[in-house]
Amino acid sequence: MTTPPAAPKVLVVEDEEPLLFSLAHNLRREGYTVLTAARGDDGLRLAREQHPDLILLDVMLPGVDGIQVCRLLRRNTTVPIIMLTALGGESARVAGLDTGADDYVTKPFGMRELLARIRALLRRSAPRDEPAAAPSVVSGDLRFDQQRRSVARDGQPLKLKPKEYELLLFFLEHPGRVFTREQILDAVWGDDFEGGARTVDVHVRWLRQKVEPDAANPVRIRTVRGSGYLFEG
Ligand code: CA
Repeated sequence: MTTPPAAPKVLVVEDEEPLLFSLAHNLRREGYTVLTAARGDDGLRLAREQHPDLILLDVMLPGVDGIQVCRLLRRNTTVPIIMLTALGGESARVAGLDTGADDYVTKPFGMRELLARIRALLRRSAPRDEPAAAPSVVSGDLRFDQQRRSVARDGQPLKLKPKEYELLLFFLEHPGRVFTREQILDAVWGDDFEGGARTVDVHVRWLRQKVEPDAANPVRIRTVRGSGYLFEG
């Protein structure tokens, strides 16, 4: 006896309550399992914890905007993303920016059209029982498991705060290159972040305590005087 395949899981991130309600209702009626979030940061967290099969993502969101959510998700997942944009400048902005979204629809949209696009994207994406496998990445004694969002050092899981994890991932993806604090802020914290470059220094200090053989004499995350930081690997 075989188990029937699980219903595809769709995450809807939308702050307009009536629209969120209507989307969730229609998706459930089509047999999808539905997760909802009304803020960008909540959507990001749900996406990472629940591994949905598809994400409907509004652009203008409180917390973290949809474009930034999409950019952050694209660092470690290939989940299909459909952006929901308002009429006016947004759709052009989404189309013009390399957000990594697979598709976008302009509000107001027809529910049937949206459902058809969802079906099409789900058909095209990888079968769900082969999770878009987030390979583990190894660097020295560090092993990154992007699927589980965890890092182990010598087989021992490291306790990393979300930003420490993202910063470490950023370094890992760009070994041997010098980045200024501003570039790191922009890549890891996003354009809207209000804090200053000191934030990077503080997080680097914390990271060094977790990944360096001797945090006082860092050999992995090196300070490049007058420039910024360099990840040696
Ligand atoms: Ca909105």
